Amino acid sequence: MQVCVIGTGYVGLVAGAAFADFGNDVRCVDIDETKIRKLNAGEIPIYEPGLDVMVARNAEKKRLTFTTNLPEAVKDVQVVFLAVGTPQGDDGNADLSALKAAAEVVAKNINGFTVIVDKSTVPVGTADVIQDIFNRNASHEAVVVSNPEFLKEGDAINDFMRPERVIIGTGDERARRVMHELYQPFVRSRERIIDMDTRSAELTKYASNAMLATRISFMNNIARLCEIVGADVELVRKGMGSDSRIGPKFLYAGTGYGGSCFPKDISALLYLSHQKDQYLDVVEATSSSNARQKGILVEKLERHFGDLKGKVVAVLGLAFKPNTDDIREAPAKVIARLLEEKGAFVRAYDPVATDNFREEFPANERRVYVDNLYEAVEGADAACLVTEWHEFQRPDFARIRKLMRGNALFDGRNVWNTQAVRENGFYYEGIGRPVIRPE
Ligand code: NAD
Repeated sequence: MQVCVIGTGYVGLVAGAAFADFGNDVRCVDIDETKIRKLNAGEIPIYEPGLDVMVARNAEKKRLTFTTNLPEAVKDVQVVFLAVGTPQGDDGNADLSALKAAAEVVAKNINGFTVIVDKSTVPVGTADVIQDIFNRNASHEAVVVSNPEFLKEGDAINDFMRPERVIIGTGDERARRVMHELYQPFVRSRERIIDMDTRSAELTKYASNAMLATRISFMNNIARLCEIVGADVELVRKGMGSDSRIGPKFLYAGTGYGGSCFPKDISALLYLSHQKDQYLDVVEATSSSNARQKGILVEKLERHFGDLKGKVVAVLGLAFKPNTDDIREAPAKVIARLLEEKGAFVRAYDPVATDNFREEFPANERRVYVDNLYEAVEGADAACLVTEWHEFQRPDFARIRKLMRGNALFDGRNVWNTQAVRENGFYYEGIGRPVIRPE
C-alpha cells in the first residue's frame, strides 16, 4: 500500500518504519528540515532502541523515504497518517495547530479517495474537525479515521510490531477495510483489532493514559502512608500486584510520572471535562498528586539536611524514563530547578538525555553535566536516583562512598540494593520504604 506519515517523531518514525517493514511504500514527511536531512543521511534524530536498524533496512530497499515536501508526498497514496505533536496549549487543552495545518495542506493536495488517520492523541471530536477541513478544502473524497497510538518510548518497536490492540475508529466501511488490510500483518497471531466510532476511539486513548497515571499516583499515595506507618511499599506492591484483578504493572511508587503523554493528555482530558461541566475528581486528584510527587526527593533532602544551601547533589537520570532521550515533563527538571532555588549545586548525568537537558538547562556555576555516575557523585553530599537506567541499578557502592563527601542516598525509583547500601554505611531513603541509617 502507498502510505504517507506526517511527523517523524517518536510515533511517526516508528509507525513509518514498521509499515515499510511489511512491504508498504512509506513516505515520511516533517517540517523540520534538519530532521529530514539527518534521516536522509542515515542518522536517527531520536533515541529509540532498534529503530536505527529498522529504518536503515527499509530505507535501503527504498520502501521508506523522507521529505519535507508534503504536497508531493500525499499524491497517489491510499492512507495518510497524521502523527504530528499535540502539545499542551496555554489553556491546558491539546494544541491542534500543527495537526490542522498539516490537514489543510493534505486536503488541498490529495488526488484521489484517501483515508486520513488521526494517529496523534487528540481530544474527543477532533476527527469531526479534521473531516470538516477535508470537506471544505479537498477536491477528492477523504474519510478521517481515529487510530490512537499506544506505544511506549523505549520499547516502541516491540509495541508497534506486536500491539496488544489496534483501535480503529470509523463509521465508513471503505476506510475500515483499508485500515484492517494495513494492520493485518501486525495482528496475525491473534485478532486484536477493535472497531468503534471515532469519539470512542479518541476517548479510549485519554482514558487509558488517565488510568495508568492514576495507578502511579495511587501507589505514590500509599508510599507516603508506608513511610509513616513503617511499611515497605515494595512489599505492598508485590502483594497487591499478584492479584489478577489488579495485575503488577504501573504500580511503582517513585518521583512521579512525566513524559510527552501522561501530563498533557490528562490536562486535555480535564480541560474537556471542565468544558462539559463535569468534574472528574479521580483524575483531578491524580494530576495534583503527581505535581507534588515530582518534588518528593527535594522534600526528603530538605528534611534530612535542614538547609540545602551549598549542598552538592548528584542527579542520576534526566530522561523521564529509561531507554529514551525524551525529557518532556521529566521529574529531573523539577528536581534540578528546586535544588538550585534552594541554593544547592547539581552534578547531573544521564546515559543519553544529557544533550537535550543541557539545551533547556545550560550548564552554569551551580549546574554541571558529567560523563558517568561516578563523576556525578564526586564530592557530593547526596545522590538522587531519578531515572532507573540499568547502569544505575547495581553500581559499586564502596566506590561511591569513597567519592562522595557525604553519605546520603535518595532512591527515587526504589531500585538500589538496600543490603549493599547498608554494608557501605550510607544513609538511604527510597520512596515508601524504611529509612536506612549508618550504624
Ligand atoms: P514528536 O514531537 O516527537 O514528533 C512530532 C513531529 O511532527 C516533529 O518531528 C515535528 O517537527 C513534526 N511536525 C509538526 N508539525 C508538522 C507539520 N505541519 N507537518 C509535518 N510535520 C510536522 O511527537 P511524538 O512523541 O511522536 O507524538 C506525536 C503524537 O503521538 C502526539 O499527539 C502524542 O501525544 C502521540 N503519542 C505519543 C507517544 C509517545 O510515546 N511519544 C505515544 C502515543 C501517542
